[in-house]
Amino acid sequence: MAEILFDSWFVNPCGKLVDEQSAEKIPSAHQKFFQNGKCPPDLKAVIGWGGIVLLNKDVCIVQLMVKFFEQVQAKSCGRCFPCRVGSCVILDTLRRIAAGEGRAADLDLLKSLAADVRNGALCGFGIAMEKPLVDALTNFKAEFEAHLNGKKCEAPATESIMIAPCNFGCPATTDAARYIELIREQKFNQSIDVARAPNPFAAICGRACFHPCEKLCKRSNVDEPISIAYLKRAVSDYEKKLIKQKQFRLKPHKSTGEKGKVAVIGSGPAGATCARELASWDYDVTIFEAAPVVGGTTHLGIPAYRLPRDIVNGEIEQVQEYGVTVKTNSALGRDFSLQDLFDQGFKAVFLAIGAMKGKKLGIPGEDENEGVLDAMEFLRRVNLGDETRLGRKVIVIGGGNSAVDCARVPLHLGYEDVNIVYRRTRKEMPASPWEVEEAEHEGVKLHFLAAPVRVIGKNGKVVGLECIRMELGEPDASGRRRPVEVKGSEFTIDTDLIIAAVSQAPDLDYFRKIQGLGISKRETFEVDPDTLQTTLPGVFAGGDVATGPQSVIAAVQSGLQAAVSIDKYLNGGTHAEFERLQRLRAIVNALGPVDKSEYCAGTSGLKRAQMPALPPKERIGNLDEVELGFSEQAAAAEAERCMRCYRIIMTA
Ligand SMILES: Cc1cc2nc3c(=O)[nH]c(=O)nc-3n(C[C@H](O)[C@H](O)[C@H](O)COP(=O)(O)OP(=O)(O)OC[C@H]3O[C@@H](n4cnc5c(N)ncnc54)[C@H](O)[C@@H]3O)c2cc1C
Ligand code: SF4
Ligand code: SF4
Repeated sequence: MAEILFDSWFVNPCGKLVDEQSAEKIPSAHQKFFQNGKCPPDLKAVIGWGGIVLLNKDVCIVQLMVKFFEQVQAKSCGRCFPCRVGSCVILDTLRRIAAGEGRAADLDLLKSLAADVRNGALCGFGIAMEKPLVDALTNFKAEFEAHLNGKKCEAPATESIMIAPCNFGCPATTDAARYIELIREQKFNQSIDVARAPNPFAAICGRACFHPCEKLCKRSNVDEPISIAYLKRAVSDYEKKLIKQKQFRLKPHKSTGEKGKVAVIGSGPAGATCARELASWDYDVTIFEAAPVVGGTTHLGIPAYRLPRDIVNGEIEQVQEYGVTVKTNSALGRDFSLQDLFDQGFKAVFLAIGAMKGKKLGIPGEDENEGVLDAMEFLRRVNLGDETRLGRKVIVIGGGNSAVDCARVPLHLGYEDVNIVYRRTRKEMPASPWEVEEAEHEGVKLHFLAAPVRVIGKNGKVVGLECIRMELGEPDASGRRRPVEVKGSEFTIDTDLIIAAVSQAPDLDYFRKIQGLGISKRETFEVDPDTLQTTLPGVFAGGDVATGPQSVIAAVQSGLQAAVSIDKYLNGGTHAEFERLQRLRAIVNALGPVDKSEYCAGTSGLKRAQMPALPPKERIGNLDEVELGFSEQAAAAEAERCMRCYRIIMTA
């Protein structure tokens, strides 16, 4: 079990090396990660923008600083003088000290150079080098002085990555900082390549990603985060324009298929990503898709007014360019079995079947009357073009993004009276606030603190829903206050259609019959979190079916991870860079990637760009895309706001 001897990562220095009494001041998240066996067993030290964490006193801080500044020097873009020259002088000085050739004045010189770089650097990269250096000089003065007096030590073995907060915020570690920089330089062509590098669904994410990257954007310390997702949309729109003009130059390496056959079940983001990666490494990949269309829930769930179908189809067409075969109307369990796949020579199978089974409300009248659908069934019908109109009025039950989609779709289809019934308040709604706002603009009525009690039917058809008022009680396991019924407060809303958007889960009926295939209590496949291997050899699972309902970009990350594991499993493939990234991501996650107190500089003063959208009136009666996209000029101006907050994290 590792012990934290010193910790200054976004905290006042604490740990044994600071003061024997101060061990309890080490943040509990750091303690949990470093002391409960979650961190790599041989980890000795971490150094980066947040400070220093030392776990082994034999690590020479002076040598560690040399290694750190070697990386800083190597990665500085060199465009501004303070960073380019300052980091160079810092490195030379550190090297002299480490070699036992330093001078007494060097320590003050280092401090003043650190301040100069921080104050003069044009981007976040230069600024981020100050804290670890100052922390080292202040808290390990004796070590520096020993070196000034001739001490020499071994340099520790280290590994490092350069990452910006937004890159870290993206589950697939998209290099958002870089694609934004390329937009600023009007290099849209190169920008889309960067966005697509980890993510074949980049155009989809530009429109529908929940953009966790923006939550970590350092520009929030100044005003508002950069519009990271919409900027990705801007470059994907540019790509689409080129494809239309037949100017598109995508000629990816086409798989030779020589590494063996792999079956991917499901063409959603997890399946498509895994397929693209494996094909790019010369696997012969076939995607089997149960539905008549491709793209998974991005096609069958997310409505077209948020994500046009040509965008979804375009993403899969690009995956096919890598030599991936896609077979639609081919369901595992219905049209063929797992054993059939192995008999046909597939060496590994990736199950990426999503979580597409809607849950029922579980109230009286639900099964007896026509006009009660779950969200997945309703959206599937609409998205496959076989929605049958069931009147004018709709009630949607639930407070998540699916509920909001299920409410907005009927309005776009021409239903006149659309209501959302949610048992908590607006504050507790899991749906993205901007989606709720749009729904209200379009005319959706929200009924908070109300829950369904009974479906009211007439002649076998839904005519209303009896609800009851709720109030909030004590917090439940999720931390949200538990809704409690208010006795005698029942009321009725007239309706023709009720959509239950309460939850969804994987459909595992077929898989339950497969001997040895583990299914968790959460109704997901049991997988090894590091390899995504199921309890059966050669069978892997990822995306929503392994995690429960999440997001497009989380499923993309799952697909990347599965591809690496399958390559290792089949051919002993090495993926040192991917694995280093995952190791260092876990450490950044435990320490905290950003801090509100972090210093920012070089801001442009521009305000966050607003997405132009169809006026609410023009959205009624059609499923045309609502958000219209940034012009190339608007995208470049938004990119101008980015502070290029790259920084280095290094471990010894
Ligand atoms: C209404 C709705 C709106 C959403 N909006 C967003 C959003 O705006 N942003 C966001 O990031 N996420 C959103 N999500 C979540 C996101 O779509 C999913 O998390 C993501 O698509 C999961 O990807 P996946 O690859 O794991 O599975 P899926 O995308 O669900 O794909 C699974 C695929 O497997 C196929 N399949 C299933 N069983 C079989 C079988 N037996 N044989 C062959 N094929 C099979 C299915 O037909 C499907 O095509 C939304 C989800 C819903 C339901
Ligand atoms: S300002 Fe730019 S580089 Fe910094 S976190 Fe935001 S998007 Fe990323
Ligand atoms: S995919 Fe989503 S999370 Fe990742 S950079 Fe793009 S918008 Fe952000």
